[in-house]
Amino acid sequence: MGLRSIKEIFIIGHGPSSSHTMGPHFACDYILSKYKDIERIDVTLYGSLALTGKGHLTDYIIDLSLKDIPHEVVFDTVTVTEHPNTLTFDVYTKNGKFSENVISIGGGSIITRDNLLDTKIKGIYPHQYMTDIMNYCIKHDISLYEYVEMHEDKDTYDYFKRVLKVMDDAVNRGLNATGYLPGSLKVRRKAKEMYEAMEHTELGENDVAMNVATHSFAVAEENAAGGIIVTAPTCGSAGVIPGCIQYLRMKHVSDDNIIKGLMVAGLFGIVCKMNASVSGAECGCQAEIGVACSMGAAMIAHCFGKGTVDIVQSAEIALEHSLGLTCDPVDGYVQIPCIERCALFAIKAINAVKLAVIIPDDDIHVSYDDSVKTMYKTGLDMNAKYKETSLGGLAEIIKREEKRKK
Ligand code: SF4
Repeated sequence: MGLRSIKEIFIIGHGPSSSHTMGPHFACDYILSKYKDIERIDVTLYGSLALTGKGHLTDYIIDLSLKDIPHEVVFDTVTVTEHPNTLTFDVYTKNGKFSENVISIGGGSIITRDNLLDTKIKGIYPHQYMTDIMNYCIKHDISLYEYVEMHEDKDTYDYFKRVLKVMDDAVNRGLNATGYLPGSLKVRRKAKEMYEAMEHTELGENDVAMNVATHSFAVAEENAAGGIIVTAPTCGSAGVIPGCIQYLRMKHVSDDNIIKGLMVAGLFGIVCKMNASVSGAECGCQAEIGVACSMGAAMIAHCFGKGTVDIVQSAEIALEHSLGLTCDPVDGYVQIPCIERCALFAIKAINAVKLAVIIPDDDIHVSYDDSVKTMYKTGLDMNAKYKETSLGGLAEIIKREEKRKK
């Protein structure tokens, strides 16, 4: 089949959720461009979209996207659909009623009746697995970045330059914002306070964990507030890569090198997306923050001039040790545990690189593809409570504790 473009891993748009806001927004755009003379649209949300759509602002984004067209959004939490993030559009036009399912597969991508075949066929790379890519690069003595450059469009570097700018803008907004995040949880924005507190630590801005965490918080809070961010590979995990970028800046890595590192990270993201999933609703948080962590590790290893084997091994370690991570956003808001998790896994990405470079190349037992396959199988086996439904994990315990206190 071959991998599709890495651009679909880094999509610029409004938070807080790539599958629950960006995907439904693109789904509405698709329906509006396909059908003419629309008189009314009823949208039914199923599975994870129905269970956490309110907290994830799905109805809000549908209202915004359908503008003044009369419509209703129905949350069907009972019907079980093949994919957990399915929307049905019942479109009433002057020429009759049409019904169409759209699936939001994560990272802002959607599968529609019209693009179903495209998404399966249109790969631009000759390979689909990281082991094949790694062997090809070693055989032809090229870097992973050169491999990406060989296959992507000429404008890809400029696209990623924009990606970096949007990430930096989100950091700056996040570091200057105060107050509470939207929703019932009353979570206070903390990035600014953390940034100011850093000055009072012994190491100041040289404190890697604090500096990285502060930048991850800034973007994750912007995402939770519905600000413009970049999926990497999703909205919920959008804070991981900006934290890793701050680490690279602390080490005086140039923006040119960071942009190239982002492109290498994209290769790992698209391998996960096409061979497994980047959707919390499908495979839990291992598919969102776990994948982001492995992308961050690959980016850092690339920027430090590591060889192909070390870059792949860094990403593998980061993903392997994120396996089993559940998705349990409290009350459906992309806030708890998502924001702290972005920060923690940015730090973990740094450590994955440190570990990878000390493990001898001839003693590697788990390939990146093995970890991706394991992540997918674990995700499919995972109880639905832990897959963006807010029925289990922290979401369940915290609700129960709140009730007990009342
Ligand atoms: S717990 Fe993870 S997968 Fe679930 S919404 Fe939060 S960031 Fe996304």
